[in-house]
Amino acid sequence: MCCDGTMFQIVRMQPGDVPAELGRLGLKIRCRDGEYFMEQPCSGLQEKRCTVYERRPVRCRLFNCQQLGRLESGEITEAEAMAMIIETRALVEKVRGLIVQCGLREDGQALVERYERVASTPVNEALEPELVAVRADLEETMRKLKLQLNREFRLPPGSP
Ligand code: SF4
Repeated sequence: MCCDGTMFQIVRMQPGDVPAELGRLGLKIRCRDGEYFMEQPCSGLQEKRCTVYERRPVRCRLFNCQQLGRLESGEITEAEAMAMIIETRALVEKVRGLIVQCGLREDGQALVERYERVASTPVNEALEPELVAVRADLEETMRKLKLQLNREFRLPPGSP
């Protein structure tokens, strides 16, 4: 979820990163207003593994999700971390499925971008009552997912 566009839309380049080299590895390096970043989902991710692990960007090296931090500090067990990951991935899959039901096929964009595209598309309540119900389910499931990602995985603002 850290690399597949579920948790992040971009990864900012840090001192020590060489954007041109990372780009040559096949990573989607972009530049906006002089700031380099890497688009997510990451093109270096293949079957849940990083294919550029030894040369991955600095931010990827520094980031440990909350579950890993709690596991390493002994606050939770590996089984508890895995249970949380499985539960959250089920929410992700539900969101993905509902987005497809709303008519937006998988297109390789980050989850939040795809959700926002669906959510900003007008629905005719009289003509499309089933779609209204699916959209309501999507909105509620996405709300739960965002809360869970913030509470259990992403680092609080200001974290190193
Ligand atoms: S470079 Fe590797 S660790 Fe970094 S986002 Fe891509 S797959 Fe994940």
